[in-house]
Amino acid sequence: MEETIFDKIIAGEIPADIVYQDEKVLAFRDINPQAPVHVLVIPKKKVPDFISLQNNDPVESGEFFNKVAYVASQLNLDKEGYRIVLNCGKHGQQTVEYLHAHILGERQMSWPPG
Ligand code: 5GP
Repeated sequence: MEETIFDKIIAGEIPADIVYQDEKVLAFRDINPQAPVHVLVIPKKKVPDFISLQNNDPVESGEFFNKVAYVASQLNLDKEGYRIVLNCGKHGQQTVEYLHAHILGERQMSWPPG
């Protein structure tokens, strides 16, 4: 797996505005926010993309999504709701090959996505 910008953030080699971390996940603000709250949650144990999750330990995968919900809650987004985005591969327009969940909140979203 090629090293990505998120590997460097986890290693502390480049700075990030970290909003939450524990032994399993790191959550930090997106450098190019698409909503008033835009946070990325990544597993500390690298998974390249959503496709790869089918080969992942289901307990670990479940824990990851529990943590995404926890981080959104800590960002006070539960009352009004929010959007979770997982871009996957070329058609999904994934630009960083390291699994990440976008948490987007504090604005009304629309549908369908672009
Ligand atoms: P993707 O398009 O792969 O779903 O999302 C990658 C996200 O990472 C983008 O929203 C982009 O703005 C964000 N991003 C790219 N480089 C950096 C960086 O160096 N720091 C932070 N905090 N976010 C980044």
